[in-house]
Amino acid sequence: MKKTFREKFVARCGAKVKKHKWLKFPMAIYMTVVLLAYHTGRNLVDNGKRYSCAVLLLLFLVVGSSFAMPESLDRQGEEAALLAGGAQLAAEQEVNEAEVAVIDIETDDMETYDDVALLSDVELDTYTLEEILESNSDYRNLVETVENETAAAGMPESDYSDYVFDASDWRLILINKQHSIPEDYTFPLGTITGSMQCDERILEELLAMMQAAKDDGVDLVVCSPYRDYNRQTYLFEKKITRYMNAGMSYMDAYKTASMSTTSPNASEHRIGLAIDFYSSSYLRLDTGFADTAAGQWLAAHSYEYGFILRYPEGKEYITGIGYEPWHFRYVGVEAATVITEKGITLEEFWEDL
Ligand SMILES: [Zn+2]
Repeated sequence: MKKTFREKFVARCGAKVKKHKWLKFPMAIYMTVVLLAYHTGRNLVDNGKRYSCAVLLLLFLVVGSSFAMPESLDRQGEEAALLAGGAQLAAEQEVNEAEVAVIDIETDDMETYDDVALLSDVELDTYTLEEILESNSDYRNLVETVENETAAAGMPESDYSDYVFDASDWRLILINKQHSIPEDYTFPLGTITGSMQCDERILEELLAMMQAAKDDGVDLVVCSPYRDYNRQTYLFEKKITRYMNAGMSYMDAYKTASMSTTSPNASEHRIGLAIDFYSSSYLRLDTGFADTAAGQWLAAHSYEYGFILRYPEGKEYITGIGYEPWHFRYVGVEAATVITEKGITLEEFWEDL
């Protein structure tokens, strides 16, 4: 009868131990290891089909559960999903997490404002008409001259329906997120008072408007007119830093900041044609200004002096900026009259230019 491997192996080892008694202990260990390996191998070979079936079944269960319950994917589960070809599911999950993070940060200022960075800025300078006129006697003379001229000639002509507008007119320049300030743009910078500046060419009408409001019993306070590049950049970068501190990448922080604050190259304040107004009884830049006497006077009369409410309510989808009843833009009396009468924005005005 043919001997098995086990019998031959034991017999051979037994013979060796008989010859050398000292081999008894190491031989016992050697035999155990060899026989264990031999039997495990035999077992695997004999039951190969059963084991492969079990492995396949296990793999199938892992793959199946990854597709059936994508919402259960978490950081640990992502590995299994990737192995099972679920890379796309994992990627979508990451995008959703990023969106949630943006929404969390945005809840405190969901609206998009040109001046939002200023809303919490405490370094604002503000001046009333009296303070401006006291600081510069030329301005007092100028305002008096305009008043006398208006009294002599009556109200200026108000029908500009036939007026021919010129797209290269400096007063009409369109600045927004799609139209940034031309790199070679220059303008004469005039001083309102102290460090407060604006385009020199709008000073006369700005002061005349403030005087007219005062004559009607309304105190307008000028705030934040011209902001230079450094100032606007500082406000914008402050916003980016805030988002990055909240865990955003620079690119995400930049995108989110431009949704809620005007980037330096898209702000009318940088070209000296935008003025933000307070009233002495309402020293805040928020939509409540619209209900003040100053807000209502400006909404009704600013066009007579060439200013328009630049970011009206209900036109946010066109201007890309939230309602700002305090932000007025000089466009000249002709364009301001047409824009106000038609109830359109500067963007819409340009469509017909
Ligand atoms: Zn503004």
